[in-house]
Amino acid sequence: MLFRSVFPLARTGLILALAAGLAMPAHAQPIGIPSMGAASGAELSPSLERTLGNAIMEQGRRSPDYVADSDINQYLTDMGRKLARHGPAMEQPITVFALRDSRINAFALPGGYIGIHSGLITASQSESELASVLAHEIAHVSQRHVARGITQSAQSNHLMIAALAGALLGALAGSGDLAMGAAAFGQAAAVDRQLGFSRQAEQEADRVGFEMLSKAGYEPQGMVRMFQRLASASRLNESATANEYASTHPLSRQRESDIQNRVGGQPASGYVDTPSFWYVRAKLMIMQAGAGQALRGVEQSLQSTAQQEQDSIERSAARYGLAYIALGRKEYEQARRFLAQAGERASYRAPELDTLAISIDIAAGDRETALATARQAWQRWPQSQGVALAYVQVLQQAGQNEQAQRFLLQRIEQWPDVPRLHQLLAQTYDRLGDGVKARRVMAEYYQLIGALPTAVEQLQQARNLTSDFYQQSELDTQIRQLRERVENERVLLERFRS
Ligand SMILES: [Zn+2]
Repeated sequence: MLFRSVFPLARTGLILALAAGLAMPAHAQPIGIPSMGAASGAELSPSLERTLGNAIMEQGRRSPDYVADSDINQYLTDMGRKLARHGPAMEQPITVFALRDSRINAFALPGGYIGIHSGLITASQSESELASVLAHEIAHVSQRHVARGITQSAQSNHLMIAALAGALLGALAGSGDLAMGAAAFGQAAAVDRQLGFSRQAEQEADRVGFEMLSKAGYEPQGMVRMFQRLASASRLNESATANEYASTHPLSRQRESDIQNRVGGQPASGYVDTPSFWYVRAKLMIMQAGAGQALRGVEQSLQSTAQQEQDSIERSAARYGLAYIALGRKEYEQARRFLAQAGERASYRAPELDTLAISIDIAAGDRETALATARQAWQRWPQSQGVALAYVQVLQQAGQNEQAQRFLLQRIEQWPDVPRLHQLLAQTYDRLGDGVKARRVMAEYYQLIGALPTAVEQLQQARNLTSDFYQQSELDTQIRQLRERVENERVLLERFRS
């Protein structure tokens, strides 16, 4: 509530595009939806949809509100994929990220991307409450509500999809004006006052989301509690800004009673929150507060929880939060003390604690200790991207580039769609003096973030660096294929402009 966006326009454009429920092109013609002729949703292939999502994400990641934190985004993405495994089949993998924004909201982008405001996570009082909103958003994706929205809007108002297509065409041409295009798209959406899905779509998302939530083992009551939280927040705040979720996902008595009826028939699952939920929540409280008075307020509240007699995960998370604040102030000993307290109990240990421990060692300039901490942490948490990335940072600082290279190649196999790993591997190749490999890996990086023209440039640079005939012809093939893909997507998008 104390946080103010630095670049509201760019973000508003992005959010409005989504809030309007129009940004998700269909990958196939949904049953029962009339054909749109040239602008049919059927023409947006999953690959084009993913490219579109990637391109919007490329802009989104540059927003100062984007939370570039591997611990947080992996936690959210793992939760999203776990829910999606218990729902209808989808063509896109779910990728979830957090935005630093105190307003309670969540939204879906093309390509299976889902954004969650920090305000929604910090307002959640249990992991099942957070999971209930995420399940609802995933259901909007799986039930093609956004896809239908864009098909219908293409019918009634060509302007929005044309603006979006124009923006992506700019990105494909390498002119990088997607932010402007996205803002235009958002304005068009606002003018059209198409904020929100239909009541029917909301009820369907509740139903499908509830199925996912309970099949995945979360507490069904979480959905009721979250709904009540959202409803009371919207009653308290007449202005829609305080509770955006209500304006983009209309809350109705009908929905509330449907949810209650569904939950009424379900026994409690006995779900126990993971420690990670509480650590991620504590970190986001601090990130959301930013600095000054707001940060001091959060710190005081964490201090009072940290001093409680009663042993609890909340107390442990408060200590973790205080360690994170101390790190920000360069009070390393203090940070280590709080962190040790947070991990006192074995069942409260989680990768987030170890990632923070490595960060403290790195910030304190303690290379040997950092290396030992990182090695141990990786042995403990071989599924943690946050720990893996911190380990690479330590290896690079210690000049252990061969080890970093080996480790990164394995991690890319483990997590093929994490762009940061490619960036770090390219850096490592550069340090090892292999410019050709560095450029090729950067080409993969740019493909992952949807910047196809830049990927072509990287491959051309690699082509110029090598005199090996085999490599040259391999690169020629790659460049040709990528250019064909850019051209195909450009042609498809052009149809939406007319
Ligand atoms: Zn909804």
